[in-house]
Amino acid sequence: MRCAVCCRQARGFGYFNARWPYRSAARDESWQFCSMRCQHAFSQLMDKTEGYMIDPTEMERAAMQACLKPLGERVAELGIDQTLADYHRDGVLQLIETVVTAYQDHMVAEHERLAARERAYFEALRAQREAVGQI
Ligand SMILES: [Zn+2]
Repeated sequence: MRCAVCCRQARGFGYFNARWPYRSAARDESWQFCSMRCQHAFSQLMDKTEGYMIDPTEMERAAMQACLKPLGERVAELGIDQTLADYHRDGVLQLIETVVTAYQDHMVAEHERLAARERAYFEALRAQREAVGQI
């Protein structure tokens, strides 16, 4: 099982949408996470969207683009004059690790950024309502 946020191996953290009725098939859908960090980022996003993801394809595309610079730097370290077939096993594993790490870091950071932005918005809205006596 993979982490729903960063795709690392899940390690016992999970989320299900308790807003669905008890016997609803939708309630059976659940997500697994590698860490409290990923679980927290995801649950904040799900709370905001009421259980529906918002355009994850665009986010994943941005995460892939975030891999380009670290991948290029790693290729330069290993020797830019080589073809992929010339790399030894360890060199290929280093390339994979570089890409996976950059992808995961971007995905987690993006989820955290979205959650922080939403939290700031709602805190400002609440402060504004308190100031005019609506709360
Ligand atoms: Zn994760």
